[in-house]
Amino acid sequence: MKVLEERIREEGRILSDTVLKVDSFLNHQVDTGLALQIGREFREVFGDLPVTKILTVEASGIQFAMAAGIAYKVPFIYAKKKKAVTLSESVYSAPVHSFTRQEDYRISISQNYLGPDDKVLIIDDFLATGAALVGLADIVEQSGAQLLGVGCVIEKSFQEGRSLLEKKGIAVHALARISSMAPGEVHFIANEEM
Ligand code: 5GP
Repeated sequence: MKVLEERIREEGRILSDTVLKVDSFLNHQVDTGLALQIGREFREVFGDLPVTKILTVEASGIQFAMAAGIAYKVPFIYAKKKKAVTLSESVYSAPVHSFTRQEDYRISISQNYLGPDDKVLIIDDFLATGAALVGLADIVEQSGAQLLGVGCVIEKSFQEGRSLLEKKGIAVHALARISSMAPGEVHFIANEEM
């Protein structure tokens, strides 16, 4: 997605060999027009699949899951990282190791909102090690729903996330695929047609 690649080149800050900061437009301050455009792009890329729910994990996947939900006219659900006191009913949950925070946590969603009749697209902001997305895929499996694919806004292709998901037979699509990065320099892989 050209406009996204341009924004990453212009505004992205490389914090280390592996961490890209995009919080001026993607995941702290959010460019709402761009977020909606990203949702429409996911709708284009995955096409007329019979999606019933979009799934993401809080917090920085929410705006893109909502945008994809708007594009598909379906609800989105975000997995919670801490069990809220209001979440009194039964939950599906899975362990995740956070790449950016270097800590382990559990994600959970209420069993009321996902079940065997659902067809799910998982959406997130970044694909890095793939741990968060594998956790979400685990939750989809527990619920008996069908996972149609995973969409992420930015993939760091030099990390192992994509191969981990593809080994599990999951279709992955990223709107910007970074092959390498260094201060002042970001290289992208041209996106294949799905
Ligand atoms: P993963 O589980 O694929 O390693 O990454 C999970 C989460 O870590 C992503 O959803 C994202 O929130 C965060 N993350 C991973 N890599 C980066 C990065 O380079 N920059 C930022 N801002 N967040 C990242």
